[in-house]
Amino acid sequence: MQFHHHGYVSGDPRVQPAAGVGIERPAELPEHVDVLIVGTGPAGMLAAAQLSQFPAVTTRIVERRGGRLAIGQADGIQARSVETFQAFGFAERIIAEAFRITEMAFWKPDPKDSSRIVRAARAADDPAGISEFPHLIVNQARVLDYFAEFMANAPTRMAPDFGLEFQGLEVAGDGEYPVSVTLLHTDGPDEGTERIVRAKYVVGADGARSKVRDSIGCTLAGDKANHAWGVMDVVAGTDFPDIRTKCAIQSGSGGSILLIPREGGHLFRMYVDLGEVDPADNGAVRNTTIEQIIAKAGAILHPYVLDVRNVAWHSVYEVGHRLTDRFDDVLPAELGIRTPRVFITGDACHTHSAKAGQGMNVSMQDGFNIGWKLGHVLDGRSPEGLLSTYSAERQVVAKNLIDFDKLWSSLMAKKPEEFENPSELEDFYVRTAEFPAGFMTEYSPSMIVGEATHQGLATGFPVGKRFKSAPVERVCDTNPLQLGHQAAADGRWRIYVFADQAAAGAPSPTTELAAWLANAPESPLAATPDGADADAWFDVKVIYQQDHTGVDITAVPAVFTPEVGPFRLTYLEKVYGTDPTADIFELRGLDRGGVIVIVRPDQYVANVLPLTATAELAAFFAPLVPVRLTGSASGSALTP
Ligand code: FAD
Repeated sequence: MQFHHHGYVSGDPRVQPAAGVGIERPAELPEHVDVLIVGTGPAGMLAAAQLSQFPAVTTRIVERRGGRLAIGQADGIQARSVETFQAFGFAERIIAEAFRITEMAFWKPDPKDSSRIVRAARAADDPAGISEFPHLIVNQARVLDYFAEFMANAPTRMAPDFGLEFQGLEVAGDGEYPVSVTLLHTDGPDEGTERIVRAKYVVGADGARSKVRDSIGCTLAGDKANHAWGVMDVVAGTDFPDIRTKCAIQSGSGGSILLIPREGGHLFRMYVDLGEVDPADNGAVRNTTIEQIIAKAGAILHPYVLDVRNVAWHSVYEVGHRLTDRFDDVLPAELGIRTPRVFITGDACHTHSAKAGQGMNVSMQDGFNIGWKLGHVLDGRSPEGLLSTYSAERQVVAKNLIDFDKLWSSLMAKKPEEFENPSELEDFYVRTAEFPAGFMTEYSPSMIVGEATHQGLATGFPVGKRFKSAPVERVCDTNPLQLGHQAAADGRWRIYVFADQAAAGAPSPTTELAAWLANAPESPLAATPDGADADAWFDVKVIYQQDHTGVDITAVPAVFTPEVGPFRLTYLEKVYGTDPTADIFELRGLDRGGVIVIVRPDQYVANVLPLTATAELAAFFAPLVPVRLTGSASGSALTP
């Protein structure tokens, strides 16, 4: 994190200086906003947190509840989400308070006495070391708290507007604020009264019963609600030995439990299978009482005792695999004719079972994807066409997730005698570990993802997949670091220059590329507004093949050590050497002749290019940052 570059900061450096619309942010929701987000669930809060980093953009997030979520809903945080939290600055704190999953146990009927259960197998949670981040369990409410803190500390000083319920919207004409939104006060002195807000863009993050979805004529299609689970967060006395281990438990009677230990050492969650729901049931399953859920759980655990002493939360979770065919308001006939104004994210456009623990995680990635795109368009960095990539990218991800979840759910629902291979469930869990960890997303070529023509130069950074971190050594202070962790969620593109073998500053393709990036009129960096720091839009980092002692920091080209802040200080922390004990060039299959890796603001690899491919680099960014701005009128002085 960079601070003190505007002068000494006394206090918490996470509190960024207020800027732009954050300087005199009105407490009341204004009549006109750039972005109106509906719903403070994981999808909405992440989109809002990302937009809070754009001081020129007025974003407000409304929520029908009167205040923060207290308890309940999702709790599984996959490693990809923890990686995302790292970019938002709270991974370490949430890891410290969460429960960490390292292993899963599989319990099955005892072959000698099917009325009893026995532990049949154990499987490591991340056998292949997919990520340096852990798989966590923590209440959704805490995740939302951290995002709320991030946006409150951001330059825009954002906070949710509670007690406002979305009623409907209209998109009319091409005016500056074409979306007219009707809201109802559900709390406070104006309770019961309606008001209109005009927005440039609306993000519907209002959950599975989304009214924003309805207002743009989208419908969820798929299995409506085929299976019900009683969910309870409880503390209990029990002699079940794996009560602090994640378990899939199948009893001889066909009942099953997914047991998830929770943060704090005592609390645990049980998803107790309530079976298939008859379409004629008309929601009757939702009347299942907590006593019935506990009794069912106790029977499945036999011969172990379950003596529930306190119920923190319970619910009947009845959800099918459902998906909308588009995630924005552009009808198929309008594709390519107009760009979207309204987007839907998270449960509003895809729902799946809780068994793969994906609901909150995938929803957050929807928010990350749309957040930076809206920020770039409204900040004047990119054309509106960028916004069409949101639905194109995320609809496919949701479809793949639903296909995976159907497979996993049907395996979980099988009776023990129905398995051809007794280890089928645990084999599937291990074989597909990358999917539930959140790392299988691979975006197709588009205006923000290049063709993988030069993939051979960086085999460990697949184009379209998230940038997988690896160790490096920072040259200026000799610190060993993870390269991927030096990328905050500040809305910037990243250009990683993995140098050829020449010494820093010696005549070489790396030095020539550095000069081109700094000086060529067609360099993407030339789009940075006058008056803003040279690295305000693009974070350019260099990684040399020598270790930190082999890099002369004074010889490193200036584009890698930009001058920042009002005192024009030279920023030295973008220059890295290779860790001889964990060589990033080896670990990520990087060509020793050097390579450029371009990474999107949401951490996905956008392109891999040779060091000499300046024309391709310029062509990649030309449609994305086509505007050559003068003056700092855009107000986008994002100085991290
Ligand atoms: P949500 O988290 O649903 O957030 C939507 C927000 O929008 C809410 O705060 C809501 O109050 C607000 N809102 C809704 N309508 C309006 C409106 N008209 N105007 C203003 N605000 C509005 N997932 C799991 O993985 N495991 C689980 O065990 C699990 N259990 C769940 C239990 C319940 C009861 C529910 C509701 C969901 C559960 N989920 C579970 C799903 C998981 O919580 C979601 O996948 C995830 O929260 C989706 O995030 P989201 O941001 O899209 O929507």
